[in-house]
Parts: sequence; C-alpha cells; structure tokens
Amino acid sequence: MNILQLLPDTLKKIAVVPLDKKYNSVRSNCFRVGSPALVLTATNELQIKETVKFVAYLNKIENRKIPFSVRSGGHGMMMTSVNNGGIILDISQYNHVTIEDSDKGTVRIQAGAVWGDVAQVLSPYQLAISSGDFGDTGVGGLSIFGGIGLMVRKQGLTIDHIIGARLITGTGSALWVDKEHYSDIFWGIRGGGQIGIVTEFLFEAFKIPTNSRGLQTPVVSQEIMYKVKDICCFIKKWQDWVNNSTVKLTSNLMINKNSDKYCRVNAHNLWCEQKSREATDILDKSKLLGPIEEEKTQELSYAKLVKAPHIPHTGQDKMYIKNGLVQNLSEDIISSIVHLLNSSEIMSIEIRSIGGKLNQKSNSFNAWSHRNVKWFIAIWGSVDNDKKINKLVNPLLNKLDGVYGGYSSDISSEENEKIWSPTTLIRLKKLQLKTDPQGIFTCRR
Ligand SMILES: Cc1cc2nc3c(=O)[nH]c(=O)nc-3n(C[C@H](O)[C@H](O)[C@H](O)COP(=O)(O)OP(=O)(O)OC[C@H]3O[C@@H](n4cnc5c(N)ncnc54)[C@H](O)[C@@H]3O)c2cc1C
Repeated sequence: MNILQLLPDTLKKIAVVPLDKKYNSVRSNCFRVGSPALVLTATNELQIKETVKFVAYLNKIENRKIPFSVRSGGHGMMMTSVNNGGIILDISQYNHVTIEDSDKGTVRIQAGAVWGDVAQVLSPYQLAISSGDFGDTGVGGLSIFGGIGLMVRKQGLTIDHIIGARLITGTGSALWVDKEHYSDIFWGIRGGGQIGIVTEFLFEAFKIPTNSRGLQTPVVSQEIMYKVKDICCFIKKWQDWVNNSTVKLTSNLMINKNSDKYCRVNAHNLWCEQKSREATDILDKSKLLGPIEEEKTQELSYAKLVKAPHIPHTGQDKMYIKNGLVQNLSEDIISSIVHLLNSSEIMSIEIRSIGGKLNQKSNSFNAWSHRNVKWFIAIWGSVDNDKKINKLVNPLLNKLDGVYGGYSSDISSEENEKIWSPTTLIRLKKLQLKTDPQGIFTCRR
C-alpha cells in the first residue's frame, strides 16, 4: 500500500514519510523513538478532522486497526504519542493562545501549545494557570489527565480551571463541550484521558497582580540542595513543615541516593504570590530541615520560571516512571520509600505536596478520581528496567490511595483501575464508545 497515494490533497502537504529529510525531527517524543509510516503535522482544525477520517478509511480498506497516535507536547510519560508502523498526528503547530477576557481571566488555548509559552502570553495580563514544573510539557496531554502544577495547593489541578473545550470525535465531527453542551463529554475530557482529540481548551486563569516594582506575575521560588544522612527523619520534618504552612506554598522534593551514603534532596518551594514577610518567614524555616549544600531564593515572574526551552524530541529520556497518591506520609510509607532508594534500579524518588484546593472539589466535579490525597510520590528508573521497577515499587504503591494517569509509564488495565474509580471507569468506557465508535484511537492509556 502506498499511503501517500491514498492521502487526500488537504493532507499531502503536511505529510512526512520515512525517506523525507524532516522525518527524524517528527518521528519521536521525548521518551521514545518512533518508526511511524506517516506523520501528519496539522496546522488547522480541518487537517485534524481530515486525518481522523483518513485513519477511519484506512482501517476500513485494510480491515485492521492502524496504530494512530496524537501528539501535542510529546512529553507523555505513557509514551503513546508515537508508534511503530502507524500514523502520528502532530498538532504542536496548532498552538495559539488568545486572551478572551482579561478581567474574567478567560483564555482560549489551542492544544498544541506548550505551557511555558502559555505563561509568556498570560503574564502581561497579570494572569497565570498552574500547569506543571516544566515549560515544554504540552497543553493537550496534560489537560486531559490532571495537571499537578507548581501552585497546585493554592489553585488546584489544571483541569479544575477548564470551562469548555473543542473535541474532534473518532468520526471526524467537531463538538463544543462545556457545562451546558455535551456535559458528559465535558466531564470526561477533564481527567479521563483521551476521549477524541481536544483541539482547544477554554480556561479560567487566575490573577497574580504585578508588584510595585513592575514585575509581572511575581512568585517566590526557593531551590535548596540538602545533603541528608537520615532521609526518614528529613521526610517527616518536611511533611510537618508543609502541613504547618499555608496553601500559598507548594513544595516538591527530588531525592537521589548517592554512593557516599548520603541522599541529595533537591527541594523546589514555590510561594505563589509576590514576596512578603509571610513568605520569608515560611521559606526561612525550610533552611532548618537539613544540612544545605546550595540554596537560592528569588522573586521572579512565573512566566520566567516556567519558560519553555523547546528541546527537540529524539527519544532522549529513556525513563520509566510509576507514581502514587496518598493522604498521609505515614512512618510505614516513608520506610518503604527509604527501602526503595536502596535499590540500584531506582534512580530518583519525587515527593510533591498537593492537597489544598485539590481537596475542595467533589469526586464528581470532573474525571479525576482522588480528591482526598495530599501527597504525590513518583519513582523514576530506566526504561530498560521496567519489569524490575514494577516489581520493586508494588509494595509501596499498594499502600497508596491511587495513581495519577498523566505521570505513569504503565499503560496496563491494572494501572487504569488505580487511576480511575470503578464508576468513573465505566462512565469513561461508555463515553469512549460514544465519541469513538470504531475505536480508531488505538494509542492511548
Ligand atoms: C519532564 C517532564 C515534566 C513533567 N512535569 C509535570 C508536572 O509538573 N505536572 C504534571 O501534571 N505532569 C507533568 N508531566 C507529565 C505530563 O504532563 C504528561 O505526561 C502529559 O500527558 C504530557 O502531555 P504532552 O502533550 O506533552 O504529551 P504527548 O506525548 O503529546 O501526549 C500524551 C498523551 O496524551 C494524548 N494527547 C496529546 N494531546 C492530545 C489532545 N490534544 N487530545 C487528546 N489526546 C491528546 C497523546 O495521544 C498521549 O497519549 C511531566 C512530564 C515530563 C516529561
């Protein structure tokens, strides 16, 4: 089959095939090198619709399901935005950000944008959306799963701020979904994973007023590198410090075991407002949590903090990531974390404070199933050790309350049962049948 000959004219000019010079720059995401038969680099909604119809047509004439991936930012830890032998629809050039109403904070964002670029557009309007810790992550992939951002305790999940979206179904139709239109689909696209292709989101951003020195969207960022001998004791003290702070503080730890028997703990503490006495008092206390090797505290623009470096995708990060969500870091859980750090297969363990605003929405608000959790734990290792890592982390993860779907490389159905509650899973499966009756979206969680 010559796939190029079958393509409609609207898609020919955006097609990249293996012999093209451009192929190497579009075949991969940041975790995996793909070998697709065809990549379509859409710049408008018509091309997205035509691609969906083309995939459905190919499935029909070939009488099989062709692997079909959708890629926005290419940072999906589930690695499903690339495939081998199939079609990748890349929408990264469909990336405009439009301020609809700066007073209300209403912002229309095309799904191919990356969060660092979104922050640059919003900042002059004193607006921000808490989205993630890295500017290159995509709006599309993050906004269908959750979005644990640097201001999550104060602002909640990214998906909690979506007020409408445009969806291309598996039959190539475009639907506007919000509270009044297709409210079941609107519920599902906010946390339920891939139910069709979301081409744009309408968000309600929040205000961060410019400070008296003219700094736009000012926040206080504190980075500390601790050299810790007793990691158990450190995590307990850190948990107490966060619990005794206000939700204006969100704190993330990245723990690495070193050969010298010490752990290097990289803490990133984010105060989600301009510098104040209150901020200084709380951030100063973090300096008492353990011996410090390096420390840097600065007031800067949120847009500068998450500026996107736009690193090209070459499948460079050969990582495998698992995670869990929990209400309390009990002694037992902390001991299991410490135990894992002793395994050579585990490279790093990340612990993030969540809770706060995330806990204030009901379980039925959107398709995020875990509204009572306060801590997020992610375990990082090499993709070559995926099976070993799954075995090693099970004793810890089995004690936790759930999983964040956007941060797990495990796409098994067992993992899905930890991401979504049984009732949510049933609702999502029904929605998938409704929006994609022929099952063309084969590469998804
Ligand atoms: C370095 C790094 C840092 C991260 N930090 C955070 C963080 O701080 N907080 C957080 O919550 N997450 C974080 N993540 C996880 C990341 O947000 C998710 O994995 C997210 O899915 C990536 O979205 P993407 O568009 O970049 O990825 P992609 O690889 O393009 O897509 C991921 C998945 O979503 C699907 N998809 C993409 N776009 C669409 C669309 N428009 N419509 C329907 N389906 C779509 C894809 O098919 C794929 O299955 C991080 C990931 C990395 C690699």
